[in-house]
Amino acid sequence: MALMTGEQYVESMRKLNLEVYMFGEKIENPVDHPILRPSLNSVKMTYDLAQIPEHEALMTVTLPDGRKINRFNNIHMSTDDLRNKVKMQRLCGQKTAACFQRCVGMDAFNAQYSTTYDIDQKYGTHYHENFKKYLHYIQETDFTVDGAMTDPKGDRSLAPHAQADPDLYLRVVERRDDGVVVCGAKAHQTGIINSQEVIVMPTIAMGPDDKDYAISFAVPTDAEGIFMIIGRQSCDTRKLEGSQIDVGNSEFGGVEALTVFDHVFVPNDRIFLNGETEFAGVLVERFAGYHRQSYGGCKVGVGDVLIGAAAVAADYNGAAKASHVKDKLIEMTHLNETLYCCGIACSAEGQPTESGNYLIDLLLANVCKQNVTRFPYEIARLAEDIAGGLMVTAPSEKDLKDPKIGPVVEKYLKGISTVSTENRLRILRLIENLTLGTAAVGYRTESMHGAGSPQAQRIMIARQGNLAKKKKLAKAIAKIEE
Ligand code: SF4
Ligand code: FE
Repeated sequence: MALMTGEQYVESMRKLNLEVYMFGEKIENPVDHPILRPSLNSVKMTYDLAQIPEHEALMTVTLPDGRKINRFNNIHMSTDDLRNKVKMQRLCGQKTAACFQRCVGMDAFNAQYSTTYDIDQKYGTHYHENFKKYLHYIQETDFTVDGAMTDPKGDRSLAPHAQADPDLYLRVVERRDDGVVVCGAKAHQTGIINSQEVIVMPTIAMGPDDKDYAISFAVPTDAEGIFMIIGRQSCDTRKLEGSQIDVGNSEFGGVEALTVFDHVFVPNDRIFLNGETEFAGVLVERFAGYHRQSYGGCKVGVGDVLIGAAAVAADYNGAAKASHVKDKLIEMTHLNETLYCCGIACSAEGQPTESGNYLIDLLLANVCKQNVTRFPYEIARLAEDIAGGLMVTAPSEKDLKDPKIGPVVEKYLKGISTVSTENRLRILRLIENLTLGTAAVGYRTESMHGAGSPQAQRIMIARQGNLAKKKKLAKAIAKIEE
């Protein structure tokens, strides 16, 4: 089975024995939990879209051996592949208005593919074979894989081995003939509760003393010793109220979890890096590069929904013809498409690696993500401007539906006469969801810190920007001879 349907995906998640905690309790059935289910639906969309003929070309890839796989499990073998990846992510963002979580696995696969090859070239290890075998398994099962990079990191001024608590970076605690045992945690794990597998990678460049921390591997998410603690999102408990309007986006969402690895065994054939410390930084740089490209797709798709919502709100207010409103919608579109330009550009300028797969242009991918740390905030600000204050002062769905209060709400919160108050509130709640509610986690703060905080991109931009060449250009024009 190389392609699962959405329903088969949901059923396969049901079969997992995940250890998930939320609000201090163990969640026995995360698949059907009202707070968590929307995040599963977002991942399910990556399966559903692959079944629709109209989207098949974008959502699937036919490999040279004839196997048809979901593009989320693809190794990019051309700049076309890289571009199609971004287009697919924009589509998924448009259909969910949320983080659909499956990109971290795809980005991990592509970073692992070239890095394991490079390590083997230098050390004669067998990581690339291990990884290819694993990838084949994932492509066949059509599983969703979480790419787990971010360690808790403790004191940021200290290297992994120098932390007061040695578990603040995930590490090997026991080496056996048949594998290793690891301890530690990965923070902010997008979608881990909706993934069948997890690929763990180091989070920073490492020195020779960090050998035990330079470890990368894959395990099932329900492997013994793994447990997850769900992160709170603003307005998350609205999902427990049974209201469709107040949550803004009743069907889709994202989810993050602190994931703990308490003495988890990893068999040898699932290890992709083990002590070759100088490759930790390479893996981080490549994974981060791919994920910074990703944001030029997914956030743009979510931005499309937010721009559309702002335009609908303007229509319902009778303000659509106001020149300043039109101009704000143009500005939002300009910002959003600028992000898309960056995602497409770093893809189009991609280059093959030694291993054969394609890497994005790292400078452009970092510029892409740097813009993502800013533009969604401005788009959100403009959406709030157009929406008006009612977005945060409107009464609840229960008031609207109440026999006594409802008609009053209906009467006084009406916009143009041809549109119901209910529809007006629906669109305002969607804007609230994206800018202040559960989806703001993905659209705002994740835009800031996901795939690395702004300073991480500035370091890469400084490294890749080739200032020396630019100085030479200036001196040549100014006829300076030294
Ligand atoms: Fe994919 Fe975007 Fe979510 Fe990252 S933030 S997993 S790129 S949807
Ligand atoms: Fe992310």
